Amino acid sequence: MHNPGTHESLPFVSLMIGRITAWWRGRQAERLDISPALWDVVEARFWFLDHLRQDERTELRRLAREFIASKEWSGAQGLELTPHIQLAIALQACLPILHLGLDWYAGWVGIIVYPGDFLIPRQVMDEGGVVHEYEDQVMGEAWYGGPVLISWFHDPDDTLGVNVVIHEFAHKLDMKNGDADGMPPLHEGMSRKRWAAVMGSAFEDFRRRVDSGEETALDPYAAELPSEFFAVASEAFFEDTAMLRSEYPEVYDQLRQFYRQDPAAFSGYLEAHQPPR
Ligand SMILES: [Zn+2]
Repeated sequence: MHNPGTHESLPFVSLMIGRITAWWRGRQAERLDISPALWDVVEARFWFLDHLRQDERTELRRLAREFIASKEWSGAQGLELTPHIQLAIALQACLPILHLGLDWYAGWVGIIVYPGDFLIPRQVMDEGGVVHEYEDQVMGEAWYGGPVLISWFHDPDDTLGVNVVIHEFAHKLDMKNGDADGMPPLHEGMSRKRWAAVMGSAFEDFRRRVDSGEETALDPYAAELPSEFFAVASEAFFEDTAMLRSEYPEVYDQLRQFYRQDPAAFSGYLEAHQPPR
């Protein structure tokens, strides 16, 4: 049945629902009790936030609050979730969407935090049709339409060189338009063809380098799949920005357009503050 009335009212209804959701999220976020001291302590963990302008820091705090309020958090394997842990995860998760908005993380709610890396049971079927079961040791995993699983390391030195939060949330952005394939939904003015060409050739080049036994500055895990290349390159974009820009300038440029941020503009500052690797 064709009902023009329904068609006309739909955008209005979805706009209203969007506004109510945003209002509710804002209210919940305001109720979170986060002391100024806690903000300072947790932000001090992340030297790669230091170059943000004051208005960006304020926006990041607002997003982090709303992010904490809008997700369902649970600690696995006896981990007791503290405001410190939630804030540390939220600040890192919201950095990539600082200029994109929280709606990029809509459509799922669960965040499960593990005390360190953890095992995920897997199954593979071999060519003979026999199913083999094994356990995969991981630091995180993002499920399409489902939760993000993340390991928590109290000492940031334990994960030196890897940002598991930015990594898993980059997968979430990638999944915004379907399976993780290394191409998130691109903004107007960006070209899918250009993205595919730049990321594809960088991935192939990186894969060759890793296969030949070269020691790479970028985490060799990026050679696994195009989706992993995007996630690992996203970590480097925010944390090791000068390295990414010098090794793969076109990848940096695509990520700069996608994230609408240009951390390499502050690369001198970031390098000076970066812990040794
Ligand atoms: Zn991954």
